[in-house]
Amino acid sequence: MNRYLATSLWWMRKLRAINRQLKDMAQTDPLTGLLNRNGLHESFASDVARALRHGRPMSVILLDIDHFKRINDELGHLVGDKVLVELGALVKRTIRGVDTVCRWGGEEFVVICHETPLLQAQALAERLLQAARAQTFAASRPVTLSAGVTDLVLGDTPDMLVQRADEAMYQAKHAGRDRVCVQAASGPASGPSSVSQAS
Ligand code: GH3
Ligand code: MG
Ligand code: MG
Repeated sequence: MNRYLATSLWWMRKLRAINRQLKDMAQTDPLTGLLNRNGLHESFASDVARALRHGRPMSVILLDIDHFKRINDELGHLVGDKVLVELGALVKRTIRGVDTVCRWGGEEFVVICHETPLLQAQALAERLLQAARAQTFAASRPVTLSAGVTDLVLGDTPDMLVQRADEAMYQAKHAGRDRVCVQAASGPASGPSSVSQAS
């Protein structure tokens, strides 16, 4: 191999590695190390398409920390950051390895539950809330979550799924926080009366 060719190959490999690094950085939330919204985007669209094509169940959980602003305001932004890192780790170790968690933004996390019908996803959301109640966070005070859960139906796009999960999460907020609300795509929206709260 002549010298010119060897140098070109070296540069090609180097550029490929840099490109991979840049892609990883663009798709990862630097604080928690989880996927960011951008990182979820690609796989989410293909996962939804595959689940619909094969008639497989899929559910989405949207988690939002309750009164997170108070933690920042009263204990400082750095403590707030630590709580986000701790919660990201809690979610990651509580869900199945095949499921996907993403820091959706701010103090919101999205969990994509593959091969999972609504009731199972609801049970997982309850477990996540229970785990948060049981954990001692850097904030040294209880940290609770509100969760919205929905399931995939024909005609759904990733945006529609997250939108429904978001609506359910807001129902949980309005019903008093620290609870799970479900909005089934196939049925009428569940109001606060059907809110389930883990004991
Ligand atoms: P609610 O129970 O209604 O969800 O109230 P909340 O205080 O959690 O919600 P709100 O939207 O009022 O505040 C969210 C706060 O999250 C405000 C913002 O400064 C903070 N936040 C967003 N991203 C970060 C971050 O990366 N680090 C820290 N420390 N705070 C963040
Ligand atoms: Mg929020
Ligand atoms: Mg919040």
